[in-house]
Amino acid sequence: MLGLAGHPLGISCLFLDPAPGAAAAAVGEQLVGAYDDPRLLAELARRCEVVTYEFEKVPVAAAERLAEALPVLPPVGALAAAQDRLAEKELLRRLGIPTADFTPVAGEAELIRALEERAGPAILKRRRFGYDGKGQAAIAGPDEAAAAWREVGRQAGAGPLLLERRISFERELSLVAVRGRTGETAFYPLVENRHREGILRLSMAPAIRVNEELQQRAEEYAVRLLDEFGYAGVLALELFVERGRLLANEIAPRVHNSGHGSIEGADTSQFENHLRAVTGLPLGSTSPRGWTAMVNLIGELPPAAELLAVPGAHLHLYGKAPRPGRKLGHVTVTAATPAERDDRLGGLAAMIPGLGEILSDRGEGE
Ligand code: ATP
Ligand code: MG
Repeated sequence: MLGLAGHPLGISCLFLDPAPGAAAAAVGEQLVGAYDDPRLLAELARRCEVVTYEFEKVPVAAAERLAEALPVLPPVGALAAAQDRLAEKELLRRLGIPTADFTPVAGEAELIRALEERAGPAILKRRRFGYDGKGQAAIAGPDEAAAAWREVGRQAGAGPLLLERRISFERELSLVAVRGRTGETAFYPLVENRHREGILRLSMAPAIRVNEELQQRAEEYAVRLLDEFGYAGVLALELFVERGRLLANEIAPRVHNSGHGSIEGADTSQFENHLRAVTGLPLGSTSPRGWTAMVNLIGELPPAAELLAVPGAHLHLYGKAPRPGRKLGHVTVTAATPAERDDRLGGLAAMIPGLGEILSDRGEGE
């Protein structure tokens, strides 16, 4: 999607991806190999003017190596912070951005002790390289510690873990922010997100029931992060709303799944703005174009003809082979009012497994 956004701007992309025939190869040349292959990194450095990433598992050492030769944006510091949940949460706390209470746990005994000290439901998470809720376990109390440790702590390469208070959120929101190389900033309206089994299913933009104060508060938090890193590019901030108050869940130093609806739903998509930001072009307007909902297509693809028969529907397929739990594409509906958006989403629910249920309740936190 970055490659597609770059083409009309005259920006051609050279992609590094270990999977032969990666989705991006359809829109630009792909170097196939490991993210830390010295020869391929040297080729990127030689042939590119700027390097960016849209995937958080890129090794920090590889990004640092490239940064010696050319600009790597967003800055490597943001990538490093996002790769370790403990460092990330400590940073948020240091910047005065509220989060769920958390504590690092290095072993099962420590986990049991931490659960005894703090009453109430918790979530145990890998510190590094979790995604789509993988490497997480919900825990109701100390008697579930052993099972949770078995599930998460003993995963290959899990390393030390983080225990968080489980938030009983009213809803989940995200803020997609962008900062240019000149320091110019822009913010999209808050997006409302619904997850199932830890995977993002539905994003609605703009979120309804957002007052100016909530939007301002979220932007303030994002600015602290952007300034901290000397950032350029898109940064997403995932948020919970608990009793009307914003708590940060995590940051993503990249274009974000909850921003995919901006392709049709904003004056300038997050992808175009990310490219404008990292290449030093002026940022584009983030104003919404009506009301949009983005639904991830996970594991299997409904027939395109049926999806596209829904008024206002736009389809984005990633060219990936179907696999359970895999994001294969997304469909965005645009509408003139929130009610029309709901109506069109109802039309999609007939074809997308689980969507009806997601629309009829309000999220996993309740
Ligand atoms: P992704 O890469 O998709 O963002 P992730 O694996 O990095 O996912 P998180 O964002 O930490 O994981 O968690 C995924 C989802 O699990 C959250 O969006 C939220 O729905 C739920 N969740 C995570 N932490 C908490 C918490 N402390 N309290 C309540 N729910 C939570
Ligand atoms: Mg997340």
